[in-house]
Amino acid sequence: ERRAALAASTGPGATADGHKVPLLANVGGPADVPAAVAAGAEGVGLFRTEFLFLDDSERAPSEEKQIAAYRQVLEAFPEGRVVVRVLDAGADKPLAFLTPADEPNPALGVRGLRTLLDHPDVLRTQLTALAKAAEGLPVHLEVMAPMVADRADARAFADACRAAGLRAKFGAMVEIPSAALRARSILREVEFLSLGTNDLAQYTFAADRQVGAVSRLQDPWQPALLDLVALSAEAARAEGKSCGVCGEAASDPLLACVLTGLGVTSLSMGAASLPYVRATLAKFTLAQCERAAAAARAADSAEEARSAAQGVLSGE
Ligand code: PEP
Ligand code: MG
Repeated sequence: ERRAALAASTGPGATADGHKVPLLANVGGPADVPAAVAAGAEGVGLFRTEFLFLDDSERAPSEEKQIAAYRQVLEAFPEGRVVVRVLDAGADKPLAFLTPADEPNPALGVRGLRTLLDHPDVLRTQLTALAKAAEGLPVHLEVMAPMVADRADARAFADACRAAGLRAKFGAMVEIPSAALRARSILREVEFLSLGTNDLAQYTFAADRQVGAVSRLQDPWQPALLDLVALSAEAARAEGKSCGVCGEAASDPLLACVLTGLGVTSLSMGAASLPYVRATLAKFTLAQCERAAAAARAADSAEEARSAAQGVLSGE
């Protein structure tokens, strides 16, 4: 089955009836690009830029160093989309020179966009480097902020992008329930949403993503999480904007069908998962995905949601 799935897996992502769902790759830097290209990724849906900041524990990388790394990733997808996430420091990704050392609850403290708004020089350098890296390339550059909580966050990020002269779409990650609940107001400031389901699960269930004892609550099949995905996707549709998923949820082939049924417009995942998601999505129509999504949302637990979706898609 593994081999059959791989053989059936080339070309752009789409349901059996031709509803397009671009399949993008999550990358951590230039080293991950060859695997993404080999798996037929239509672009990058999440470029985690933290890796660049790990070499030096005292300062951010120079603009030149950043330009070189961004350019390598942008050049690999000449006509594609590349969604770059600005630095997401703090909590599970601490950086000594940026992350406060004395917070009682780092996941609820200064992390993600909050860190960058406290260090505008770091954000400015990163955005300027991105603008320069994209110069002269036909790539569709999109830049998004992690941990956007409300409209004010989205506006501050969009203002910083404009001030840096960035000619790209600006977006907000939906990783905090408040952002999903008020997605329409966030979309007044930015052009797209991207659901970070790993953090969205953590904050929805008050379950630390690094604590194994509460991993049951990190299951992205939880109906409450699916409700927040649906809210975000509906808001984006109402505003004529896109809403992708770039958390681990997108790499589960069955859940990818459910997310599509909830109205998500693109799926981004580790390259290794791409062929399986592409093959599974191609087996079902959009209407089947929508029925599976409705069945999953009607369930009362992650397990029930998964088997309800499975039941719909296997024609039970
Ligand atoms: C997420 O939270 O789902 C996400 C994509 O970002 P990260 O896993 O890097 O926090
Ligand atoms: Mg996250």
